[in-house]
Amino acid sequence: MNSSFVSSKGMRRAAIGMVGSIALLAPALSASASPAAPHRSDAGPKNVIVLIGDGMGYNEVDQTSSYQHGTTNYQVVGNPLTGSVKKVPGTPSQVYEKFPVQVASSTYSLSGRAAYDPQAAWAGFGWVADGATDSAAAGTALATGVKTQNGVVGLDGSGNRVENLTERAKSMGKSTGLVTSVPFSHATPATYGAHNADRNDLVGVTNEYLNDGTLDVVIGAGNPAYDDSHQLLATPSFGYVSEQDWTRLKSGQTPFKLIEKTADFKALATSKKTPQRVFGAVQVGSTLQQGRGGAATSAAPFSVPRNDVPDLATLTKGALNVLDANKNGYFAMIEGGAVDWAGHANSSSTCVEEMVDFNRTVEAVVDWVNTKSSWDETLVIVTADHETGYLTGAGSNPAWTAIDGARKQLPAAAWNSAGHTNGLVPVYAKGPGSADIRALATGTDPLRGAYLDNTDLANVLLTDLWADKDVLGLGQHNGWANPVWLKTAS
Ligand SMILES: [Zn+2]
Repeated sequence: MNSSFVSSKGMRRAAIGMVGSIALLAPALSASASPAAPHRSDAGPKNVIVLIGDGMGYNEVDQTSSYQHGTTNYQVVGNPLTGSVKKVPGTPSQVYEKFPVQVASSTYSLSGRAAYDPQAAWAGFGWVADGATDSAAAGTALATGVKTQNGVVGLDGSGNRVENLTERAKSMGKSTGLVTSVPFSHATPATYGAHNADRNDLVGVTNEYLNDGTLDVVIGAGNPAYDDSHQLLATPSFGYVSEQDWTRLKSGQTPFKLIEKTADFKALATSKKTPQRVFGAVQVGSTLQQGRGGAATSAAPFSVPRNDVPDLATLTKGALNVLDANKNGYFAMIEGGAVDWAGHANSSSTCVEEMVDFNRTVEAVVDWVNTKSSWDETLVIVTADHETGYLTGAGSNPAWTAIDGARKQLPAAAWNSAGHTNGLVPVYAKGPGSADIRALATGTDPLRGAYLDNTDLANVLLTDLWADKDVLGLGQHNGWANPVWLKTAS
């Protein structure tokens, strides 16, 4: 465990070690801007929206691109035991595949493999199948910039509480929100809103959200009154929020306005006047759609009637509509949480459904930035915490084969694991600070190209774009307007 911690520190030093090349870039970037008013892209972003596809590896993206558009972008073929593995020419089709910054990310935690090894990962079919992170450790890395053990939320490897991005945003006078398609207190949102040694303490995580004061918006599945098929339970089930906290929410004894009904989420997305703080518990048990009866075992995506609940894009628009009332800006984390659940179930039909839902959510966010904000003030990052299910082309192992199919059909594909894998996952970024994210991708993978570490995606904000000191040495970002935080920072 110690050695892996040292290893992550070593990677950090490697990132700082390439400051020289970035310093050369910085003047070139600002040269086109007026000296009197620094270009906003050289300032820290006013708003940051992080979208996480839980379990979304390259092949989950491609399986769904094949279904939606008849294209793939990341396929590799070849047998490492008898020859080389090479990339098949690809076609980008998702909105995030047009973002200016596209790199990869390593995901390892303090449990399992101590580092990502690009040579080993492609030298045999089995390497990535072992020693993977879970969503708690990966989420903690993405939210706090610190590696920790699997199962741990918002604490470092020694159990110390570490600052996360919602806390930093709050200290800067910004608003904060978490949206997910799985329970609001599940591991990924928990890492952005709580500190807990046990990810399974789901009611404890919700209690922390309600009492801590950091979060303005929390929206997810996990309504105690409903099952996974949107049916009212005979007796409520308090697995994600305690009965006491649910009563407090219902009776208005928390700072949050409770929203449950589909019509109310739709109204939240378009309303001119929004509540200051919102707790959204969609009327469904553990997930919006993935757990509905018969879906996971269905032969084709969208062939089983859908739960009549809002999709992730609607929940996201509601959250952004609340958050953007703050003139200081906001931080939002949006999770497509059930891509992972489909992967664990080796269910291609629901994996495609969940990825379509996630892709539409990214499209909604891009549309939101285009119409209600701008790419000068809002940074959007799309990534994953890890891959789930070791999805590949059909008949892979020991060779990799390509996922390939026609539009509106499930491509032939194979699931090679019921768990998480340890390969690189994609990172897409657009907006102010995205060039800094590109600069942190100092690793090189023979198939995926430049990669950073998941901790970099938090640290680029915590120690660079949203820091008072230029710790990473990527250039000063002193032009952004945040009077509240600049006055209070020491
Ligand atoms: Zn998982």
